[in-house]
Amino acid sequence: MFKKYIFEAIGNTPLIKMKKMFMDEKIEVLAKTESRNPGGSIKDRAALFMLEMAEKKGELDKKKTILEATSGNMGISLSMIGAAKGYRVKVVMSEGVSDERKALIKALGAELILTSSELGTEGALREAKYIFKMNPDKYWFADQFNNPDNANSHYYGIAEELLAQSPETDFLIAGIGTSGTISGIARKFREKSPDTKIVGVIPDRGYGIHGLQNPFHDFAGELFNGKYVDEFIYASKEEAFKLSRDAAKKEGLLVGMSSGAALFAAKKITQKIQRGTVIVILPDSGEKYLSTELFR
Ligand code: PMP
Repeated sequence: MFKKYIFEAIGNTPLIKMKKMFMDEKIEVLAKTESRNPGGSIKDRAALFMLEMAEKKGELDKKKTILEATSGNMGISLSMIGAAKGYRVKVVMSEGVSDERKALIKALGAELILTSSELGTEGALREAKYIFKMNPDKYWFADQFNNPDNANSHYYGIAEELLAQSPETDFLIAGIGTSGTISGIARKFREKSPDTKIVGVIPDRGYGIHGLQNPFHDFAGELFNGKYVDEFIYASKEEAFKLSRDAAKKEGLLVGMSSGAALFAAKKITQKIQRGTVIVILPDSGEKYLSTELFR
């Protein structure tokens, strides 16, 4: 059977047992490889769900241009789905993101607007809001930091997949950007697997780990809700990079910076338990970071 659209291939990503980086026989570390989505990241799930809910609610039609501020992956996902569905897409991004992301968004036919790298994703968000405010009828603003359908996509999607793939999980680790991933998964796990501890990973400072941000110091949208998170683990850029490189060399898993941060948190957790199952969400692939200091 064939699929009609590329976005029908979103989801059902593999859960892979890590062997070399976590050698303790009584502890199982399982990696959810979100790079296997067609747009290359976990953001495909949120982009598709937000977009289709907006279509259903009558907020989005072909007369409107899809608008979003992003650290890159959401822009790529919206550009891909927008192209397949026949929408115009405008993406606002900080200049600091990797060249691959900028090139991918343009290759997928979207318009790209760059904002100062010093202001990080927050600067991009401010610009997108301004563009929307100036012309509200022309755009559908996806607004991933505040759109509940970002978190809902994970509540209905990846969380259900994880419960089916690993029925008994002691720790679930996810990095925090918009908080969509962790809030959606945590909400489902609270209902169906309340004993699973939810661990949120945040950068210790700045925007150095692409995709993640510190909701206490940098910026938090409405989706951030600390009550869903049992434990926060801080990762430095250096720690995250080391674990990303290890994953590629030791496991053959070419992953991005935020995956490295999540793996750093997995190391911390496995050091303090004797047995159990730990799931780590690896949001994207290392391919988008080949030109950055992560792999150069
Ligand atoms: N890692 C990467 C590479 C991302 O692009 C994002 C999204 N900004 C995240 C992690 C964090 O996911 P969320 O926005 O759902 O918190």
